[in-house]
Amino acid sequence: MKKEAMLWKPLADDKVQCNLCSHQCTIAVGKRGICRVRENQGGKLYTLIYNSISSIHVDPIEKKPLFHFYPGSMVLSLGTVGCNFRCKHCQNYSIAFADVGEISIQEITPEKSIELAKQYGCQGIAWTYNEPTIWFEYTYDSAKLAKKAGLYTVYVTNGFMSMSALNKIAPYLDAANVDVKAFNPEHYKRINGAKLDPVLKTCESMKKKKIHLEITYLVIPGHNDSPEEIKRFAEWVVDVGADTPIHFSRFYPCYQMIDVPPTPVETLEEAHRIAKESGIEYVYIGNVFGHKYESTFCPKCSELLIERYGYSVINRLGADNKCPKCGFKPNVIISST
Ligand code: SF4
Repeated sequence: MKKEAMLWKPLADDKVQCNLCSHQCTIAVGKRGICRVRENQGGKLYTLIYNSISSIHVDPIEKKPLFHFYPGSMVLSLGTVGCNFRCKHCQNYSIAFADVGEISIQEITPEKSIELAKQYGCQGIAWTYNEPTIWFEYTYDSAKLAKKAGLYTVYVTNGFMSMSALNKIAPYLDAANVDVKAFNPEHYKRINGAKLDPVLKTCESMKKKKIHLEITYLVIPGHNDSPEEIKRFAEWVVDVGADTPIHFSRFYPCYQMIDVPPTPVETLEEAHRIAKESGIEYVYIGNVFGHKYESTFCPKCSELLIERYGYSVINRLGADNKCPKCGFKPNVIISST
């Protein structure tokens, strides 16, 4: 559904500039931005995907992944079409690189999405599967309603949003999982069609704004897996906040990178070791079912605090959500219901 866009300004000759993400597209009449879902019609910018849902599921929050945010809760998860990145390994390319009208969508208003979340016993709502920033008008309206309805709100994002977009949604956004796709700008340019710096700034700003932040780093063999790069990433995380949970995720061949093998588990374990030695308190290994490092351990005494096996969760925290052995209080937001 078409709706006038937020966060843009008119330019000469009926062109417009979109200020939603760090691409800052200048768009002529009849043209679309890089995400292909925002179009200049007669000198005004419109979103073409308001209310447009390509995917809707009730997921465990662990699937986002968020491990320190209402563990064990269910979240209504929604996606649309389009993306402002062009990742050569995109797992969701069938929706992310689809054009508007190319795949079947259903219309679900923000009000209806809140109703559905409640109806299906979800504690929150997440915009995920493709990039939520490019769906800003819909996610912003929905997030405002969700907060009124007592639901938590989540972005699963590439972090390329503008500071204006982040500032606007921040009062209504409780948590985010941000993909840091590599710790070198050249990789972002070559593999993702984007830039690293704005992503890092988004993470730093989310942390300052007290939006619960977890970061996923997909470890791709031969592309972003050198110990030096992992070390630089880990040192940056410690500067942002050593209590930020990090997910080193296993790569599987996909889309235009089917010639790259899956990440060896030893590489992920080495990344885990480097991150822990750098001082990051909570480091996880993702996409390796049943691995020990799916679970949360106390950063002070190494006691098992939250046990995970796939998406099943056993909370072993003691009274007041503290470590039952040493009394340390981990950075975990626990459901009150
Ligand atoms: S959201 Fe980003 S990619 Fe899409 S039109 Fe706006 S600036 Fe361009």
